[in-house]
Amino acid sequence: MMIKGIKGVKDLLPEEAPRWRFIEDKARHWATTFGFQEIRVPIFEVTTLFARSIGASTDIVEKEMYTFQDRDGTSLTLRPEGTAGTVRAYIEHNRAADPLPQKYFYFGPMFRHERPQAGRLRQFHQFGVESFGMADPRADVEAIALLWQLLSDLTLPALTLEINNLGYTSDRETYKPVLVSYLQQQLSKLCANCQRRIETNPLRVLDCKVPDCRAATEAAPKLAESMSDKARTYFDAVLKGLDSLDIPYHLNHRLVRGLDYYCLTTFEVTTTSLGAQNAVGAGGRYDGLVETLGGPPTPAVGFAVGIERVSMMLPESQAPPPAGDRTVYVAAFGDQGASVGFSVLQDLRRSGIRAVVDFRSGTLKAHLRQADRLKCRYTLMIGDDEVTKGLALLRNMETKGQSDVPLSAVVASIKPLISPS
Ligand code: ATP
Ligand code: MG
Repeated sequence: MMIKGIKGVKDLLPEEAPRWRFIEDKARHWATTFGFQEIRVPIFEVTTLFARSIGASTDIVEKEMYTFQDRDGTSLTLRPEGTAGTVRAYIEHNRAADPLPQKYFYFGPMFRHERPQAGRLRQFHQFGVESFGMADPRADVEAIALLWQLLSDLTLPALTLEINNLGYTSDRETYKPVLVSYLQQQLSKLCANCQRRIETNPLRVLDCKVPDCRAATEAAPKLAESMSDKARTYFDAVLKGLDSLDIPYHLNHRLVRGLDYYCLTTFEVTTTSLGAQNAVGAGGRYDGLVETLGGPPTPAVGFAVGIERVSMMLPESQAPPPAGDRTVYVAAFGDQGASVGFSVLQDLRRSGIRAVVDFRSGTLKAHLRQADRLKCRYTLMIGDDEVTKGLALLRNMETKGQSDVPLSAVVASIKPLISPS
């Protein structure tokens, strides 16, 4: 019986891998340009890390985590997001004792038990950043500016930056009873999930995608109306910072995000080009989290972007050129030709020129067919006759033009034609 991959868990095949590499290279470039350093944290952690940070009454912790028992009975979980592990590492390695701010970025797979569909997977990948130590609106703006710079550089279509102020914990505590009493009047119009959320996590009702719930909460009192002056001032400074950098945004008072650790600034970049899965990346400020997990009080802000969704949106014109453009096919045939060709292949590769051959092909015709199939820009032909003359024949597969190349100077002749990679 054929063994298949798991539902919602995809293979990344060689045709698509260069697109991912391209996106990752851009992300790495902009993150380092903005002063972030790479961190790699484990794919699994003890379950309590996620339960305590993301929040017990969130969708992720309630029903999306891949949790299992280790042999000694410890409960472990495949990470559903990157912030919790990064914060744990920050605390465990006492990074707070190092000069602040500490700014990290990461790439990697995340795991959530969701209903798989286009752009929604059970193993998906994120690029994310976390910035520790700055309780300054400009740190929020810096994170958003990095996200915006990356997505703009990738020329992703139809992007909107939505932003909201979640205030301080005390602001949300003031707001909750006001919201709950409104929601209780709307109870019969809400979905079963939201009816439950009124008890466990009332703010999440505002974020529900079910149309009836959206309609029922359209006239709900707004969190902004319960906001303290301090939180208001902070958020105004963030918006001013965005204005000063010409980063456009939409205020969205419904944006509450599905994780408990956020406060003050919360944001999401959406697109109209992805259908139902319209979130490209999201993040916000999470000043309480480091302390919640046992570290010193540390203000922090971060975001994460879904690589699958970015890859789906990446315009064809941005995709890296096919490898064949920079590849030489070495068509070596005949006794001597094959043997000399084998050394030439190695010389080319040693000098950094991408070179391929199909060892099964014995005739020039068979080689040329392979070179065409692999879409190689150039073919270097070496038969017994060429070896006798000390030459190889270089064929441009597009123009069909051919020229002699001295066997003693193959690398030097080809290098200017092909930029090494
Ligand atoms: P959504 O509203 O789509 O469920 P989310 O709020 O759960 O997203 P976050 O936890 O903020 O998402 O993760 C940040 C980004 O990671 C999302 O904007 C999205 O691009 C991506 N992402 C989240 N969950 C998935 C998934 N199951 N499959 C693919 N990408 C995902
Ligand atoms: Mg989700």
